[in-house]
Amino acid sequence: MDTKVKEYLQRYGISEATQRFLSKAQKMFIGGAWVDASDGATAEVIEPSTETALTRIPMGTAADLDRAVQAARAQFDGGPWRQLKPLERERLLHRLADLLEANAEELAEIESIDMGKSVAQARAVDIQGSVDTFRYFAGWASKIHGRSVEPSLPGNYVAYTRKEPVGVVGVIVPWNFPLQTMAWKLGAALAVGCTVVVKPAELTSLSALRFAELVQEAGIPDGVVNIVSGRGSVVGAAMAEHPGIDKLSFTGSTPVGCNVGKAALDQMKRLTLELGGKSPVIVCADADIKAAAQAVANGVFFNSGQVCDAGTRAYVHRSIYAEFLRELADYTASLKMAPGLDPDCFISPLVSKQQQERVLAYIQAGKEEGAEVYYGGEAVEGPGFFVQPTIFANCRNDMRVVREEIFGPVLVTAPFDDEEEAVALANDSEFGLAAAIYSNDLGKVHGLIPRLRAGTVYVNAHSTLDPSMPFGGYKQSGYGKDLGAEQLDYLLETKAVWITLP
Ligand code: NAD
Repeated sequence: MDTKVKEYLQRYGISEATQRFLSKAQKMFIGGAWVDASDGATAEVIEPSTETALTRIPMGTAADLDRAVQAARAQFDGGPWRQLKPLERERLLHRLADLLEANAEELAEIESIDMGKSVAQARAVDIQGSVDTFRYFAGWASKIHGRSVEPSLPGNYVAYTRKEPVGVVGVIVPWNFPLQTMAWKLGAALAVGCTVVVKPAELTSLSALRFAELVQEAGIPDGVVNIVSGRGSVVGAAMAEHPGIDKLSFTGSTPVGCNVGKAALDQMKRLTLELGGKSPVIVCADADIKAAAQAVANGVFFNSGQVCDAGTRAYVHRSIYAEFLRELADYTASLKMAPGLDPDCFISPLVSKQQQERVLAYIQAGKEEGAEVYYGGEAVEGPGFFVQPTIFANCRNDMRVVREEIFGPVLVTAPFDDEEEAVALANDSEFGLAAAIYSNDLGKVHGLIPRLRAGTVYVNAHSTLDPSMPFGGYKQSGYGKDLGAEQLDYLLETKAVWITLP
């Protein structure tokens, strides 16, 4: 560990548990065994606020992925997991949730120093959200059932359907909510009796490796959960093409998701794709301007804008546009930019140098295209991959900063004159992950909701998430749903059973 990281961790006083976790060599978890990459390769993990080395993680190979799939396959086809009674699986998932809860502080610290995010946000959202997700899906384990059917066919039959787990699920997750995104996918998959192989993002694998220890401690049988860290182009690509995987559940960018989806469909794998977004926000003339401005800022700058459903395009009624921008800038100025472990940090460093450069390049492109910088827009002196929260005014929908996903703290705004125009501007995007409306006129709100082409519509808030509500995109934001009862449909096969009676 670099001395700058050591000083940083000492300054904020991380827990002994986190110190212990960081002091040991990180291993992958395959078939219940802790292993290095088969070729011994490792990669450095960079702490984003000091830009220096924290630890190293194994960089798995296609052979490692194959071993993990075999372990998951063997457990699914012949192991005890599928033989467990539903309430037994439910009990194990609750035990896992208990362990996540008991180790919440350590997990929040790991997430913060690995990804850069605010430790307070990690505690409240990432870790609590993961606990809640396992608890929610634990309850589903005993509530999966088919239908009994009365056929009209002449003759005497018993006809019914069975719901059966799809099999081995390959899970690929991005770096912005590492533990939580994995929990979204694993909670439901394990509840219905699937086994899983997870490939965490190469930038943020630590919480998945710690999670694997808790899986073992919970007493979940070997091979049910396997974690293979490594590159997307190696482990991820091998997973998409592996014939031993029955279903692929991917969260990440739209271009990578498209390629992964094509490879998976070549083998008719079941598929869930949770992809990128450029979510619009409509602020109506009757909205509470101050409250809306604060909610819009939180909705775009939370996790420094590295949020798939962040409200990144705000269309504001012309009559309140100037006042709204003033409130937005005032509130944004109050958000503290600091390293993730600072308890008051709201704007944390971005995950990597590459992401920082990408976001700064978009800000430059916005300026060159004629978007007016209303707030921020300048580079921040290091160390730390920080980017100033940035608000552009009077943007046009043909600008790159309006059309493309930036994945950083950048909000584009424009005025509108009537609702027709607002809906047209909001829907003018290849993405359709989420949308938000700010208004206190219920009639207007109900009129707008069906017209917005997005998988989620928030009203007078942003990113209100709960494991009981489905999450997933329209258009190029993806295919299928995570969370809610809807997620189960993507993890279960339906078998029709006909019994001819004498
Ligand atoms: P990414 O697409 O670059 O990577 C996502 C995952 O895919 C990583 O684990 C990566 O290693 C892996 N990967 C990369 N190349 C691969 C390949 N050729 N084959 C298989 N796997 C491969 O995305 P990212 O930069 O890690 O995350 C940011 C993106 O994720 C944004 O577009 C964001 O909107 C999206 N996202 C979507 C949701 C959602 O629920 N819709 C949630 C979070 C993030």
